Amino acid sequence: MPAFSTEAVAAQLSALGVRRGGVLLVHTSFREVRPVEGGPLSLIEALRRALGPDGTLVMPTMTEGASPFDPRSTPTYEMGITAELFWRQPGVVRSSHPGASFAAAGPEAERLCAPQPLAPPHGPESPPGRVGALGGQVLLLGVTHSESTLLHVAESVARVPYSVPHPCVVERDGIHQSVMIYETDHCCRGFRRMDDWLRPCGLQHEGPVGNAHARLSNAQDLLRIAVEQLEREPLVFLCPAGAGCAECDQARASVGRAREPE
Ligand SMILES: [Zn+2]
Repeated sequence: MPAFSTEAVAAQLSALGVRRGGVLLVHTSFREVRPVEGGPLSLIEALRRALGPDGTLVMPTMTEGASPFDPRSTPTYEMGITAELFWRQPGVVRSSHPGASFAAAGPEAERLCAPQPLAPPHGPESPPGRVGALGGQVLLLGVTHSESTLLHVAESVARVPYSVPHPCVVERDGIHQSVMIYETDHCCRGFRRMDDWLRPCGLQHEGPVGNAHARLSNAQDLLRIAVEQLEREPLVFLCPAGAGCAECDQARASVGRAREPE
């Protein structure tokens, strides 16, 4: 299989609808995109070329949270090779959340990566929340909506009744300590229902990028549609009770339970 050139991938991204000069939040699986000449770094270059010098590229660089977080050295956890290489590039800014950091490059990078509340990790005042506020786009590159951090922003906006605590090491007054951070956590397979809601409205552009299937939407459209669905049915993204999904069962069990103070 011939490898895609950087130019070819950049052209695919533009054809899909990536806005020049815009803000783009990307979730990616390079395994689905490859082969690209030059590997994941060329994919990053293609994304930046499609955005142009006035565009801002954003990726989640979440970490395990089991050890103290240093944005200059802590590796990502299950974010893929593209995000792992992205935050290590010169000029890329990384936010400071100890578990849910993001990296960004471009004119809006500092604003996107400004300090955020510890909880919820993906609220309106978080990097993905700010992508929405700035009128950005969300690109799912070889992954589905189940990987989308923006849908956790929608859960936060809609104030879903479930949240699950996760231990996370933070530094307070120079001392490392483990705190519980409440997140709207579940298996996230239910996020894939977004396809059924976005496609009929023409709010999701789909096409090839490299060998991957890509989905592109406006962050504000995603938030509006998801919040509408959540307001109608607050547990719409959870697997049905009795479906055998331990993560969604845990989220269900948290409904109505008082949170412990941080
Ligand atoms: Zn589930």
